[in-house]
Amino acid sequence: MSTRLPGGLRLGRVAGVDVLVRPSLLVMAVVLVVLFAPQFELVGYSSPVLAALVLVVVLYVSVFLHECAHLAAARLYRMPVSSITLHLLGGETVIEGESRTPAQELWTSVVGPLTSLALGGLSLVAAPHTPPAVEGILLASAYVNLVVGVVNLVPGLPLDGGHVLRAVLWGLLRDQSLATVVAARCGQVFAVAALSLPFVLARTRGTSVQLFDVALAALIAWFLWSGAVQSLRATRWAEALDVIVARELALAEPAPDDAPPLPADLRGVALLRSVAMNPAPVYVLVDDGGRPVGSLRASDVDAAYRRATD
Ligand SMILES: [Zn+2]
Repeated sequence: MSTRLPGGLRLGRVAGVDVLVRPSLLVMAVVLVVLFAPQFELVGYSSPVLAALVLVVVLYVSVFLHECAHLAAARLYRMPVSSITLHLLGGETVIEGESRTPAQELWTSVVGPLTSLALGGLSLVAAPHTPPAVEGILLASAYVNLVVGVVNLVPGLPLDGGHVLRAVLWGLLRDQSLATVVAARCGQVFAVAALSLPFVLARTRGTSVQLFDVALAALIAWFLWSGAVQSLRATRWAEALDVIVARELALAEPAPDDAPPLPADLRGVALLRSVAMNPAPVYVLVDDGGRPVGSLRASDVDAAYRRATD
């Protein structure tokens, strides 16, 4: 799950949402085939490359289902989703805007890893009841899905587990910005920790450090670090914008009859999003009971935005 802007080739649409594929996915697909084909050859597959190709397709379908779980949860909470993107290290579902409550953030995040764990568990249970050629592929898929599920639950942003941690801290501390900073800092700690993986693997295998493991660990560390930094930046930006309060920009003069209503207590990112999604020159500000309390000019919101971000 992410709030990053998407980019990539459009594969199609699911439930009104664009499914995009980044070219980096093809690089990873080739790497996975090269990695898994020798394993299939070792266990006696007559067409190991074909088996590895089938496995890669199964894995990307699994990633897609993981993202669909995020999409379904976001839809349940009526949060707009613009795209699902499949890329080098898995996938991301672009949800527009932040969660409004800790519970929203918790459920839209946790359903992804739970789906991966469920797919892994199902593959593991089904494998012994299938022909040997299918069994090997299902066991490999079970292994990868279980790893994906567990890794995604690691409590650091930008991972799903980081969003779960942020939701829990947000619920406990009642401070979304502080929760984001803590979850992002945890993400940075895990990014640095990821760099030690090749050494841990070499030690457990009793071999020397493998170049492939170093490259993969560096890639994972970069992904975690840049995602965590992006979350910190987004929080600082949201904090800077929080000084813009609709009620404080209100004019006493009545709004025209056709002016769209806007809650007077809207502020910061939520206010800018509402104005962007429903453009008009003037809005009528309303209180909790829907009673008009003044008017708000869009140009005044623009000016306040420029002052806040200067
Ligand atoms: Zn996810």
